Amino acid sequence: MGYVFEPWPITSVPVVGTPDSFPVRRIFCVGRNYADHVKEMGQDPERHPPFFFSKPSDAIVLTGDTIPYPTLTQDLHHEIELVVAVGKTANCVSVADANQHIFGYAVGIDLTRRDLQMNAMRAGMPWDFGKSFDNSAPCAPIHRIQETGVLTDARIWLEVNGEIRQDGNISDLIWNIPELLSILSHGIVLQPGDLVYTGTPAGVGSVVKGDAIKGGVGALSTLEIVIS
Ligand code: MN
Repeated sequence: MGYVFEPWPITSVPVVGTPDSFPVRRIFCVGRNYADHVKEMGQDPERHPPFFFSKPSDAIVLTGDTIPYPTLTQDLHHEIELVVAVGKTANCVSVADANQHIFGYAVGIDLTRRDLQMNAMRAGMPWDFGKSFDNSAPCAPIHRIQETGVLTDARIWLEVNGEIRQDGNISDLIWNIPELLSILSHGIVLQPGDLVYTGTPAGVGSVVKGDAIKGGVGALSTLEIVIS
């Protein structure tokens, strides 16, 4: 038995220092995970349990790519995020064990159709379409954890056309990475190939056609995309 049409290619992200790529299975994103960003969104910055949403794996965009300004929005926002790449199945893992399931780290951007998200939120409707759309998950090359060590303290920043817009530190995550992986792994079984976008610091804002976006986390490879 075959397929009724040719299966699509597996989305993958290059791995720094190897000729190989990381095959992307699923993309999970964390909402409201830096207090200064929670405040700028007009939400309560107390430590509520984290919540998650997803993007399709083929929303990945690689560094150096140019992507079209998406449809349906007048307010496309950048959210710079540290991305955690899962390398081992994680089923109900403890916080203490969670880091053992990390393959590596990368710089990502959670592109957001903010107007769609906010309209849906106000109406009490699901806001998938504000977050999950084509090209909504740019991701720089992945660095293996054996090269980086466990990341707990690193500057996270984003600039648009050379002007700094977001500038924080991953030590300010409300829920840190092992906590996030542990909590996620109690809701779904995390699998090799999964990516977790861990939330964005303050300074989110609009980009328009022609903008060049560049972002980084510590010494990880920077992520650069252009909106056309
Ligand atoms: Mn985000």
